Amino acid sequence: MSEQKGSRERVCAICGRGPQERQLMQGVKGYVCTECIEMAHSYLQSEMEAAAKELDFTAEDLMPPTEMKAFLDRYVVGQDRAKRYLCVAVYNHYKRLMARAQRGEEDTPSVELEKSNILLVGPTGTGKTLLARTIARMLKVPFAIVDATVLTEAGYVGEDVESIITRLLMAADYDVAAAERGILFIDEIDKIARKSDNPSITRDVSGEGVQQALLKILEGTVVHVAPQGGRKHPEQKLTPVNTKDILFIGGGAFEGIERHIARRLNTQVVGYGAQKQRERIKTDDLMQYIAPQDLRAYGLIPELVGRLPVISHLEALGRETLRNILVQPENAIIRQYQALFGYDGISLQIDDEVLDYVVDKAIEFKLGARGLRSICEAILMDGMYALPGTGAKELHVTLPYAQEKLEAAQLGGEG
Ligand code: ADP
Repeated sequence: MSEQKGSRERVCAICGRGPQERQLMQGVKGYVCTECIEMAHSYLQSEMEAAAKELDFTAEDLMPPTEMKAFLDRYVVGQDRAKRYLCVAVYNHYKRLMARAQRGEEDTPSVELEKSNILLVGPTGTGKTLLARTIARMLKVPFAIVDATVLTEAGYVGEDVESIITRLLMAADYDVAAAERGILFIDEIDKIARKSDNPSITRDVSGEGVQQALLKILEGTVVHVAPQGGRKHPEQKLTPVNTKDILFIGGGAFEGIERHIARRLNTQVVGYGAQKQRERIKTDDLMQYIAPQDLRAYGLIPELVGRLPVISHLEALGRETLRNILVQPENAIIRQYQALFGYDGISLQIDDEVLDYVVDKAIEFKLGARGLRSICEAILMDGMYALPGTGAKELHVTLPYAQEKLEAAQLGGEG
């Protein structure tokens, strides 16, 4: 039936039924019956639900930032500020994805929500990776960690920047749609800073060129990756992965950046009183004032800094935090050893002073939280080796026992 005829005949343009059977609504060029409108409505709704389902979670599933933080608190000790920044950025990111899924890909929204990639700045072993990993686990999205130091421009020895997307695809079990909304943690991003004070005759293959390549991926582009990892092959079928909805979290120690922060603060603060006050700011405290300008001064290109709009600082871990890390988190190191011994029916008792000793040693060795595990491992190695199968029911670790085992291990002996 033609449009003309339809409009003259007063029948529904979709089902063709007339006013005797259906209630018709008049449009500019014809009629539609109310039943067809209802059907179209429920069709759209199911489409929207399917799109939301594709995201694995719906608006109800997405925890508000306060709940996200409570989840992080179960696994990561301290770093409150960084946790808050991370939760808000992640919440906004997934809200943005859901808004688009519900709206439909093609609609142009009145307010385009921009992606807020995050930069976590802080000394090594302070929980940057742990934070990123924990939040990915909470959201049940694919998560991969890549190390920026191995990246080089395409064509040079090392990994192409695009290979980082392969890692995420692998983490998503080659489910492209899942990878496209995953979280990618780029560690040691500070190492690709342009080394301006070291002008080299050779091309800066690991510096600015890598930053430029990374920028494209952070901005959102379609990357063609070799599906099974490895190097690209001319005959190989490449998988296109769109990076626009991938959340990137950069991590780095940015050693020496305090210099730039101090210089910036110096030029901003004027007056005699301010001078005195400034002198009291310690290097450690300076880091909390980190701003995009400092990252630029450090050697990141402005465009890349612009793509990492959320900057948060992680504090160096103090004695108390280190001690809490040993026992507090749901999968705290000591709990893990207790579970390990538990499988053999052995109850592990560790004296409080042993915990202090482990913390002292971690600080002494300048290993931070990363050292806690290796120190515990050295202390408990003998027990884990010798006790299973003996029928022993308990291992009681006292300070002298711990000292003896650690000293023996340090001396390279068998303990
Ligand atoms: P970074 O990425 O900052 O170098 P990681 O997140 O890899 O450090 O931390 C190394 C290890 O130290 C983690 O696996 C974790 O066991 C422990 N750790 C570090 N910081 C924390 C923290 N704030 N809370 C709990 N564990 C931590």
